[in-house]
Amino acid sequence: MAKLNFEFRKRLDAIIDGDHHNYCYQCGACVADCPAARYSPDFNPRQIMLLALLGQEEALIGENSPIWLCTNCYTCYERCPQDVRPIEVIIALKNIASGGKRAPGILEQIQKSVNEQGRTVAWSPLVDRRRKELGLEPVKPVPVEEIQKLLEE
Ligand code: SF4
Ligand code: SF4
Repeated sequence: MAKLNFEFRKRLDAIIDGDHHNYCYQCGACVADCPAARYSPDFNPRQIMLLALLGQEEALIGENSPIWLCTNCYTCYERCPQDVRPIEVIIALKNIASGGKRAPGILEQIQKSVNEQGRTVAWSPLVDRRRKELGLEPVKPVPVEEIQKLLEE
């Protein structure tokens, strides 16, 4: 039987605004329309809420955590009859994992690309060359300085 980790649960509680996430009664309504659950058998927001209630740190932010499969679509927020807002719990978990350098390496690359180029996928001249070969327009410029200012704030 899983042992309750109060310390991790308190840490999570402190990040989430309010205590709505503690009222999950495990009905599974959030799973029914979740796109990540539909395409990945490893992802289940109901199970994530249960693990959060139990404070299961390793399962939630460890190497094999499923939280990174969530698309942040907010469907679970709308579906939950208890106003648990599973997405807010998942975002808080992602922030804890990132702060503790436990996020997948690819996220660091994406962050670097957004900081430097304002894009989640890095651009290089090769990209436009390939687009030209495919008969596509060059990639449009993005207001990098505006994005950097927003990120700073
Ligand atoms: S988060 Fe809401 S919808 Fe999902 S299992 Fe818990 S009570 Fe049900
Ligand atoms: S926000 Fe995440 S957990 Fe919620 S429905 Fe979308 S993919 Fe599923």
